[in-house]
Amino acid sequence: MIHQLVYYSRNTVPGGDRAMLTNLREIVSASQRNNGRDGITGFLIFDKTWFVQILEGDRAKVTETYNRIARDTRHSGTTIINVRDVEARLFPNWTMGGAMRTPEVQEVYLQHGIGSAMDPVRLKSTQIVALALDLQAFEKAKRQGQRLAS
Ligand code: FAD
Repeated sequence: MIHQLVYYSRNTVPGGDRAMLTNLREIVSASQRNNGRDGITGFLIFDKTWFVQILEGDRAKVTETYNRIARDTRHSGTTIINVRDVEARLFPNWTMGGAMRTPEVQEVYLQHGIGSAMDPVRLKSTQIVALALDLQAFEKAKRQGQRLAS
């Protein structure tokens, strides 16, 4: 069984789009390093105000990782939305995929009924997982496109 944890938190790092993207890249790169070691996969959604993250893996490792993340000063108010055991990983190839909300991915948000501001307090974990899967697919298609173009 795979343990899955979904939480949200509020970003505390100010700045414009560039600073935000750098922040996200630093987080994702440290996450990929640690998660590869710990057998954790998942996805990090960042809409500039909120982080919403899905962590999946061994129960003890997921808990340990979440506890470390919750102490990070780059965000505050980490709140668990849902924990459950699932049959298989939903993000098997992503030690930590991440997507920042930019105009480019707006259509993906719209498909999930999130037009303007995202309100994670009102989102169900199933909606978050569905959004993350589509953002993952979007990122994957974009990367493949870049590879073909280069
Ligand atoms: P290093 O990366 O070497 O960092 C050492 C210390 O400095 C840590 O305490 C770290 O928190 C702190 N630090 C580093 N950079 C900054 C900065 N720019 N501002 C403030 N403090 C900083 N980690 C994972 O392992 N897996 C995840 O999936 C994951 N997801 C995250 C999601 C979010 C939204 C955030 C904010 C952080 C996430 N992290 C994740 C990072 C996690 O909080 C720790 O920073 C990281 O695990 C520590 O890695 P490290 O031991 O290699 O330390």
